[in-house]
Amino acid sequence: MSSARPDIVVAIDGPSGSGKSSTSRGVASRLGLRYLDTGAQFRAVTHWMLSHDVDLADPDAIAARAAEPQLQSGTDPLQPTITVDGEDVSVAIRGEAVTAAVSPVSAVPEVRARLLDLQRRIIGDGGIVVEGRDIGSVVAPDADVKVYLTADAAARAARRAAEEGGSDLAATQASLASRDQIDSGRATAPLVLADGAVHLDSTYLSLDEVIDKIVSLVP
Ligand code: C5P
Repeated sequence: MSSARPDIVVAIDGPSGSGKSSTSRGVASRLGLRYLDTGAQFRAVTHWMLSHDVDLADPDAIAARAAEPQLQSGTDPLQPTITVDGEDVSVAIRGEAVTAAVSPVSAVPEVRARLLDLQRRIIGDGGIVVEGRDIGSVVAPDADVKVYLTADAAARAARRAAEEGGSDLAATQASLASRDQIDSGRATAPLVLADGAVHLDSTYLSLDEVIDKIVSLVP
């Protein structure tokens, strides 16, 4: 394990299935840093909304309850955890129901404002790798290292389908494309290439090669 400045902040953004989670966890473990998965936080809020029968077709209904779910994110890159109202939702947030609903919930400004505040508190004095869609642009625009990680749509779908235990490739690609479209097109904090971000295409790179490249960017 190498070491990095104790206050370093590494921001890793990109579309769904670009390898952000494995990469971010790998970079954090190599450098002895904490790790924050902001996607898991949006997923946990979505899970809470679904289990409280909030009408997810109604952004006002989501906004009205955005302050209620109480989230806790564990930042150990070897064993990241997420709870909502004290319940471990690490597995539930990866299910189809949450995946299908998360992008519309994440587009609601009140949800984003709530999580932005929480994310900045967790980042605190740094020493962390943070992954998401708006980390380099909105959450931590002064991050020391900003990476925009992409891969071909077909490669992203193939990786995600394999992670999900061989689920239908065409359906996975359609689901990723639909989330990307909502995430890139929303008015508040859309997925963009942040100022100063290094664009890294992982289509033809192994996980270790991507981690090596990012570690080499860390001052
Ligand atoms: O990273 P993951 O695919 O788990 O993220 C799930 C969803 O959470 C994304 O599709 C996006 O709608 C939302 N998200 C976001 N901003 C972030 C991280 C995730 O809007 N910083």
